[in-house]
Amino acid sequence: MGNTNEPSAEVEHIDVVIVGAGISGLGAAVHLQGDCPGKTFTLIETKEAFGGTWRQHTYPGVRSDSDLYTFGYGFKPWTGPPIATADQILQYLDEVIDENDLERHIRYQHRIVRADWSSDEGLWRLSVERADTGESFEMTCGFLWMCSGYYDHTKGYTPEWAGLDDFQGQVVHPQHWPDDFDYSGKNVVVIGSGATAATLIPAMAEETGHITMLQRSPTYFFPRPNVDELAEQLRALDIDPAWIHEIMRRKVLSDGQIVHQLSAEQPDFIIEELLNAARQYLGDDFDIDTHFRPKYLPWTQRLAVVPDGDLFTGIREGKVSVVTDHIDRFTSTGIMLQSGEELAADIVITATGFNLNVLGDVEMFLDGDPLDYADTVTYRGVMFSGVPNMAVVFGYLRTSWTMRADLISDFVVRLLNHMDERGATVCTPTLSDDDASMERRPFIPEEDFNPGYMIRGRELMAKQGTHTPWTASNDYYIEREEFPAIDLDETALKYR
Ligand SMILES: Cc1cc2nc3c(=O)[nH]c(=O)nc-3n(C[C@H](O)[C@H](O)[C@H](O)COP(=O)(O)OP(=O)(O)OC[C@H]3O[C@@H](n4cnc5c(N)ncnc54)[C@H](O)[C@@H]3O)c2cc1C
Repeated sequence: MGNTNEPSAEVEHIDVVIVGAGISGLGAAVHLQGDCPGKTFTLIETKEAFGGTWRQHTYPGVRSDSDLYTFGYGFKPWTGPPIATADQILQYLDEVIDENDLERHIRYQHRIVRADWSSDEGLWRLSVERADTGESFEMTCGFLWMCSGYYDHTKGYTPEWAGLDDFQGQVVHPQHWPDDFDYSGKNVVVIGSGATAATLIPAMAEETGHITMLQRSPTYFFPRPNVDELAEQLRALDIDPAWIHEIMRRKVLSDGQIVHQLSAEQPDFIIEELLNAARQYLGDDFDIDTHFRPKYLPWTQRLAVVPDGDLFTGIREGKVSVVTDHIDRFTSTGIMLQSGEELAADIVITATGFNLNVLGDVEMFLDGDPLDYADTVTYRGVMFSGVPNMAVVFGYLRTSWTMRADLISDFVVRLLNHMDERGATVCTPTLSDDDASMERRPFIPEEDFNPGYMIRGRELMAKQGTHTPWTASNDYYIEREEFPAIDLDETALKYR
């Protein structure tokens, strides 16, 4: 890095190590390459290939639930349908790698298991394991850019149910879908009603004997056509795809802002709109209140998009049933519900979510002391008190994740260039004595956003304080103004 940290002779030194080659890591690399051309960088990725989430999940129908104008990058136009399949997203990312010549920077089947910050040397010492050769080695870097996502890719979340071992059928978690899984003609029960269940149920329904969505409590679903009229009109006029991309991003973000505001200010109106949309597919006789009226407020969890209303169509056509009840226990042939009804099943799919994961499961140390991430206070939701030269990408939960990854990339490259200009090699967000005693709040407050993985894993997350820069709003409409205006010489950032 510029006038830099001193690498030792025998250990490879890289200026910036990006952990993860998912959509966040690849975006970070493009920003870094473009805006910090003098820096060496590498992406370290556990999997055999890029894509993260979109490589991990292979269940039927797997797709985004955000539009790709905003889930895609600002710098590369999206030209497909708004909601995209995992394959289409991987194809898009593949083109990003090609167009930016990134392949040579990515080390696949490498996992960072440990990171030690050395104040004396002003750098991170990284312990890396290779899955392909079984070898372990050490490397050093000046700056650590964590793009490792937010959930454990190795194990999906499955609650403990009584009698599960008695069940004679097959149990599958969507995060670990078996290759060539044959469910034709089978009686399938999907436990859960989040975005994953809403995706895989219509995709499986054509082949299964019958498929049932079993939910404890309902989710808000948002049926919408998977085509955007404005984008189609602009395409028909032969407008430059880059312009269409930018116009569509602005439209989606402006529409999103209206929905956010209405959800906060007039939740009853939004709730009725969503339930009416379901009613249009299911008819007035369907028991919407039991099965589709959630107990939470809209947007305290991600809204599950249903492209072209496919889930509702499956229900109307009798291929899909919805049961709202609690599991009492598994039996040898299915699931006994607390109401006394038994659901017969050949296959049970546990669409029950994720386990939250922080810092890519990397064990971190600061000058030999273990880093207790949960005890740090976040600097603007990107860096952490007392942790030098590290940024973490935690994207938006309501707006597309990538919108925040992009803002963070702009911040990190600005910071790296600023450090060079100042002749600094170390930047540490540091709490003043007064700030050290401020009240600490959850990184994502429960009243704000409360899906299961967040509630289960909350104690793992860093905290936020009561005032800027020690807060994290996770609100695009605030941060798009705040981030570009950050004063890199503010007192919370200590340089050396
Ligand atoms: C099925 C599904 C659909 C989704 N749809 C949307 C959507 O439509 N819109 C939206 O905004 N969000 C969506 N999300 C959330 C989604 O995960 C993120 O938006 C986004 O893909 C996260 O990208 P990422 O690169 O930050 O993390 P990930 O995709 O999780 O990638 C992280 C990568 O880091 C690697 N890694 C982790 N730790 C290490 C380590 N120690 N060493 C080396 N490599 C490591 C992992 O192997 C992985 O490849 C969805 C999630 C799922 C599961």
